[in-house]
Amino acid sequence: MSGRLNHRVREALTALHQRDRHRRRRVIEPVGPGLSRVDGQVCVNFCSNDYLGLAQDPRLQATCGAAGSGASALVTGYSPAHAELEAALANWLGRDRVLLFPSGFSANVGCLDALLRRGDQAVCDALNHASLIDGVRLSGATKAIYPHADVQGAEAQLKTAPEAVSALVTDSVFSMDGDVAPLEALATLARSRDALLYVDDAHGLGVLGDDGAGVAAQHGQDSIPMLIGTLGKSLGAAGAFVAGPAELIDYLENRARTQIYSTACPPVAAQAALSALHIARVEPWRRERIRELITHLHQSLAAAGLPVPQSQTAIQPIVLGTDASALRASQDLQARGYLVTAIRPPTVPEGSARLRITLTAAHSKSQVSGLVEALADSLLESRVA
Ligand SMILES: *Cc1c(COP(=O)(O)O)cnc(C)c1O
Repeated sequence: MSGRLNHRVREALTALHQRDRHRRRRVIEPVGPGLSRVDGQVCVNFCSNDYLGLAQDPRLQATCGAAGSGASALVTGYSPAHAELEAALANWLGRDRVLLFPSGFSANVGCLDALLRRGDQAVCDALNHASLIDGVRLSGATKAIYPHADVQGAEAQLKTAPEAVSALVTDSVFSMDGDVAPLEALATLARSRDALLYVDDAHGLGVLGDDGAGVAAQHGQDSIPMLIGTLGKSLGAAGAFVAGPAELIDYLENRARTQIYSTACPPVAAQAALSALHIARVEPWRRERIRELITHLHQSLAAAGLPVPQSQTAIQPIVLGTDASALRASQDLQARGYLVTAIRPPTVPEGSARLRITLTAAHSKSQVSGLVEALADSLLESRVA
């Protein structure tokens, strides 16, 4: 072991501890709809991305098939379940074709790297997901960042050079704030400047739009030619995909290195996602329940004199500011049986540490009321202390 490396590692860890920024994984065991056991205690889980409450659904668990895919998709890892899932997703989203990836992170890294090269330009929202940032970085394209959700800012950054490709890159629903990108205006801008609009709908798919189709319900393939979705969030499985025009997908199938050189997502995950997709379409009450819970959460927070998030999606952040205050509130909530993780920098900007509450179809109104009561008590106590 290198002494210098040892020193670097120890210094980094010490700094993380000193700044209340050290993280550790906790063993979380699902024990029922919306319930998880953590540190020996059963809590209402208000921080999963299992928005439709499908991850524990017996209909997903009943799906069988080979556990692993055994190879990358271009070799022998592409199973009938994968093909069926791709067709079902394309049909749901109104896209020509869909290409599966092992994960959302690898989909973004692989697609952006394949689409853009040195000399090209990626114009990115300041709050984009880490995988979009890394994909742009890997591609070698010049990165321009516009202020969050600021279309004029994006327009000011867009430079058109002959031969160069420009892409507008954004999350649809921002994962730490829950707000929705101005997609209509971005699509108009992209069209007028011959730029590619690239949208990551990880948190909209299954939750937003008619038929739960996410932002694809409102924005056709002409508006959003590159649409990323994940199977591990609202669909309760694992893996991800890109949906778009046939030729572009054909190109990515041949050029996206994270798809070509990585073992395909497990067939059991594809089977589970296929079942989940079906359930999401035929059980709209799951999406409606989330909407009811959002209204209930907002009313309860207002009644308790607490700040009400602007978000109209399943992601409901309570911004507390300092890392220590977010950690303390999260610990207080866990002591009262509510699991809500503290989100700290670098995941969110400095000074905006927060509790990220996620509402799912598995929650009840009384659980949300209980959460708000516990939160009000915790914040009151810390003010008095
Ligand atoms: C979760 C997430 C990803 C990564 O997806 P995984 O399948 O978990 O790798 C990508 N983009 C966004 C916006 C996400 O929230």
